[in-house]
Amino acid sequence: NGSKKVSLKEVESGGRGLETGALVWVSDASKVWAAGEVTHSESCHVIVKLDSEDPIEDDQHVNVPHTGASVRLLRRDTTILNTAALSYDDLTNVPELHEAALLQAIDDRFQHGRIYTLTGPVLLAVNPFRHMPGLYSPEMLRSFMNAQKLQPHIFSIANRAYQGILDDDESQTVLVSGESGAGKTETTKFVMHFLALTGAEAVVSEGEKPLSRVERQVLRSNPLLEAFGNAQTLRNHNSSRFGKYIELQFGFEDGSHSLKRLVGTRIRTYLLETVRVIDHQQGERSFHIFYQILAGASLPELDGVRKHLDSIEGASTFKNLGNSACSELLDDAEDFQATLAAMQTMGFHMSEITDVIRAVLAVLHVGNICFAVPAKNSEASEVLKSEDAANEPLQLSSELLGLPQAQLAEVLCNRTMQAPGEQVIRMANTLQQAAECRDALARHLYHAVFSHIVEKTNASIGFKSEATFCGVLDIFGFEFFKVNSFEQLCINFTNELLQQYFNGFIFENETALYREEGVPWQNEDFPDNAGIVKLLQSSPSGIFPMLDEECFVIGGTSGSWHRKLIQMHQNHQAFGVVKLQNSTFIVKHFAGPVTYTADGFLEKNRDRLSNDLLRCLASSEWPFLRSCFRDTSGTSADQTPCRSPPPVRASLSGSPKAAKVRAHRSTVSSEFRQQLQDLMAQIRTTTPHFVRCIKPNPENRAFVDAAVPDPRPLFDRKSVAEQLRYQGVLEAIRVARAGYPVRYQHFDFMVEFRCIARKSLQLEMEAAMRKYHEEGLEESCLVTSIRAFLQSEAVLAACGSAEAVAVGRT
Ligand code: ADP
Ligand code: MG
Repeated sequence: NGSKKVSLKEVESGGRGLETGALVWVSDASKVWAAGEVTHSESCHVIVKLDSEDPIEDDQHVNVPHTGASVRLLRRDTTILNTAALSYDDLTNVPELHEAALLQAIDDRFQHGRIYTLTGPVLLAVNPFRHMPGLYSPEMLRSFMNAQKLQPHIFSIANRAYQGILDDDESQTVLVSGESGAGKTETTKFVMHFLALTGAEAVVSEGEKPLSRVERQVLRSNPLLEAFGNAQTLRNHNSSRFGKYIELQFGFEDGSHSLKRLVGTRIRTYLLETVRVIDHQQGERSFHIFYQILAGASLPELDGVRKHLDSIEGASTFKNLGNSACSELLDDAEDFQATLAAMQTMGFHMSEITDVIRAVLAVLHVGNICFAVPAKNSEASEVLKSEDAANEPLQLSSELLGLPQAQLAEVLCNRTMQAPGEQVIRMANTLQQAAECRDALARHLYHAVFSHIVEKTNASIGFKSEATFCGVLDIFGFEFFKVNSFEQLCINFTNELLQQYFNGFIFENETALYREEGVPWQNEDFPDNAGIVKLLQSSPSGIFPMLDEECFVIGGTSGSWHRKLIQMHQNHQAFGVVKLQNSTFIVKHFAGPVTYTADGFLEKNRDRLSNDLLRCLASSEWPFLRSCFRDTSGTSADQTPCRSPPPVRASLSGSPKAAKVRAHRSTVSSEFRQQLQDLMAQIRTTTPHFVRCIKPNPENRAFVDAAVPDPRPLFDRKSVAEQLRYQGVLEAIRVARAGYPVRYQHFDFMVEFRCIARKSLQLEMEAAMRKYHEEGLEESCLVTSIRAFLQSEAVLAACGSAEAVAVGRT
């Protein structure tokens, strides 16, 4: 139309070269991107009139200077607007895709109840926070089975993974990410649901679809894990407080060589938030199972611990359950029935169920033990006698744990130490140390219960040593709070590794696309977070290795570690310090900078049960407890306060031998990093599928009746844009735009441009288009005639070179 060619960089910086009448997006504080139109274009600036939703409101104008402006402009393509966006099954088909177009499209689709959007190989899923009628029905599931084309739906992704297993015999992984409450776990369950049912459906095409034992167990494993690993938080009433990777194995059913169905499963779990056992924020709860047991106390299944239930007067009996035990969103009694049913499906005998419940009750009673300072020694502690003699926490705990009261009190209030070659010394614990000991006992006991549930589930479903599998990863997303600690660093490190993997995948995908279409490409804008990963993990000077080292230095503290950290990394570009905030440091993650508070890092990384306690638990007369805490520490007392082997943290390999080998100089972070390394190695052997879950608003609001109008947007563009950024979606689009930003579908391209070709070529193109249309072929059948067109004299004359025309993919 006569306008001169405007380079992308110019438009993105300040609108130089935008003609009057050009439609644009303007960066905006509340809407992130606001629609507007250029009304004046001058040599040093453009003036943009913003589209007003309110006709009475005065027109708003923004003056955008070409240089030095903080406002950004992007060209607005009207095809993306409103309902048009709905017709794009894959947003990479939008001719000009950038942040503003993406945001607008997801917004529009969401407002029309379309919660799923594809951008290339990545599925975006916006949590609707309400039941979506028919969206996951059996008919819907069936409609995706064996479908070839990728559609914006989670079943389509699951089907793609299943097809990969069938057709290529290659293992797959569905990586689900997102912040708390974004819908990761629900998404994971839909994938599992599809994979469990699709095999069953495929085997029996008519009538009843009996599920196999494995399929039933796999589906039931979810409520079981959730009872023990989920809790109500301010962000999500059913928040998973652990990460998980579930490998669903497929194989031919006995003798059948037609189709594969589920034959085995392995669940691996990560970083259970055990601190929730002893403490939680106002308005949150501890793990569901505690409240479930209390709500279902009258059930005959609990007769094995009847004696210990009768004295309980609800959650308020327990210090650690606090006063936020009631949940309007959960039915604990009903959920408990489901938990029990799931345990039975998993093959737990009645006595094993009793063992688990007994251990959970023990965790609660241990939490009630209080300490006092004895009159004769202010540096020591003793168990405080309760006024209610019938409900003495120490007595109840020791009964449940199968330990003599005196022995339990001894290991809580005292500790032993032994320097090499010297005698064992017994020292009194201070009040604080005793309380820490008690809390560690409660946390480790609960962790042991959780690991037991996972191990038993794995053993019961079974796992083949060799079979193609589809892994599903449901792991905590990037976190940054007001105060960030060790847990956030571990979580964000995980996300850093996953992001690195995602970047590599997107980059490879792009490269393959260009190769396929014969388009030359040199992309130097590859997003690379290798520097941050290195800062965190490289040995010996990475943040984690330095933390581990400090745990074994005599007299090492979080403070000494922090000082060394700053000395080592103050000039690292991904590291920063905050002036006047002494104990903090900043890591510039790919998703943005996060300020961590160093206090408590060392203790959390060491997180050990004293050898005294370990030995004590291993001597219990209760076989269940003995099996959870096999004494792996040898017989000697702690060598030095800092060099003792750590507790047997639940490991899935679980054998005492494995625990012993790793016991040496092992820390929470080193074990976790090893787990992550194994996980990434496993994922790298598979074909990945990415699902990015998005929380539409921070309050978990769903569409409501218009009777009570809510001024707050249901789709909070600002927080969604932030999630798109830290989940790497924007970065992926930027990579694509750094190559050729405008991408036409082959067909659309021919419709628009064939008019400039010479007649014979035009006819050839039209024939190809007809064939494509009538025979329902893939768009790639158009590539040959497009290539001929691009190399024709007319185009070369119009564009200067064939490369100037960016051709997209199908
Ligand atoms: P996350 O695991 O990311 O923390 P969840 O998967 O637990 O989040 O989802 C939080 C809540 O959001 C769920 O309990 C459910 O109520 C709702 N939800 C999530 N995904 C969907 C969906 N696809 N359809 C309807 N509700 C959903
Ligand atoms: Mg979850």
